[in-house]
Amino acid sequence: MNINENLTIIGSGPAGWTAAIYAARAHLNPILFEGEISGGQLMNTSIVENFPGFPDGINGPDLMMKFRNQALSLNTRVISTSIKKINLNNNIYKLIDSNDKIYFSKSIIIATGATSKLLGLPKEKELMSTGGGVSVCATCDGPLYKDCDIAVIGGGDSALEEALHLSKFTKSVTLIHRRKEFRASKIMIEKIKNNNKINIILDSIVINLITKKNTQLDLEILSHIEIKNIIKNKNTKLSIDGIFIAIGHTPNSHIFNNLLKLDDTGFIITNNNMHTSKKGIFACGDVQDKIYKQAITAAGSGCIAALEAEKFLI
Ligand code: NAP
Repeated sequence: MNINENLTIIGSGPAGWTAAIYAARAHLNPILFEGEISGGQLMNTSIVENFPGFPDGINGPDLMMKFRNQALSLNTRVISTSIKKINLNNNIYKLIDSNDKIYFSKSIIIATGATSKLLGLPKEKELMSTGGGVSVCATCDGPLYKDCDIAVIGGGDSALEEALHLSKFTKSVTLIHRRKEFRASKIMIEKIKNNNKINIILDSIVINLITKKNTQLDLEILSHIEIKNIIKNKNTKLSIDGIFIAIGHTPNSHIFNNLLKLDDTGFIITNNNMHTSKKGIFACGDVQDKIYKQAITAAGSGCIAALEAEKFLI
């Protein structure tokens, strides 16, 4: 049997849950597809210190569970599948989930997030989820590395911005880039070169994450990284407390290719009110934001998307 919905929300990060909370309180009876694994990028984060309302910090997965519980308590209907196909040709949009169940919806909020690109090294994901020394967010995890030696991987604006930010409170920052030329803007490169806390290693890639046991925490933590200079074909080891990987994000927007306007890197294009190029379809959070990428900004844009969806449905 086909099901007709008012508002369908796709995604279960801060943007999706916030949209659900607002939409449910506006009696829009939202349905939210949380995916087979609920929670988004914060599920891979240990302590979150910058989400307002938690003065002692909170674990990423615990924070996401609070979002989820709040949406459920307001009667959001949550489905633990993902949407695999969409048809936007008619006024009532058609969605097909990973169980091949068909839904029809008058409006949609897309909150499918983005995925940080990783290096693909052994132990990388594990060290990221346990807080063992690998991070993809300097704003979130940087303050945990006060007076430490850290490395930033990447050569774009994000990597250079993170290196500059981290240099304010760490002992040293080693910026490691795989080519001789940075991709980042000239002004950022100048700032990096003028910062005496930042060492630059070019033409090099990280090939190994070496850990040690922290007996106090009973945790494997990063102690060294092995770096390969790809021109000289020479490997070196660097003692390090943490690495920040800033090699770009992939927006989770592939099912909207050819349906909505995307920028050349795949981010969904929205106006300031989260409207996409199609009437009644809104996008919020990291799938449309390549600058701020924070849980709080994602939540804020989820709120705007829900308020706009309410106006649209009225
Ligand atoms: P990006 O511009 O795509 O840069 C990614 C960097 O990571 C590149 O230097 C790339 O190397 C490197 N890289 C990619 N895969 C790698 C791998 N497997 N191993 C090692 N290195 C790898 O991504 P971004 O820095 O996140 O920026 C995304 C967009 O946001 C850009 O348009 C950027 O200008 C913008 N942005 C703007 C600001 C700002 O204006 N303040 C701040 C942040 C981001 P190659 O150079 O060799 O490809």
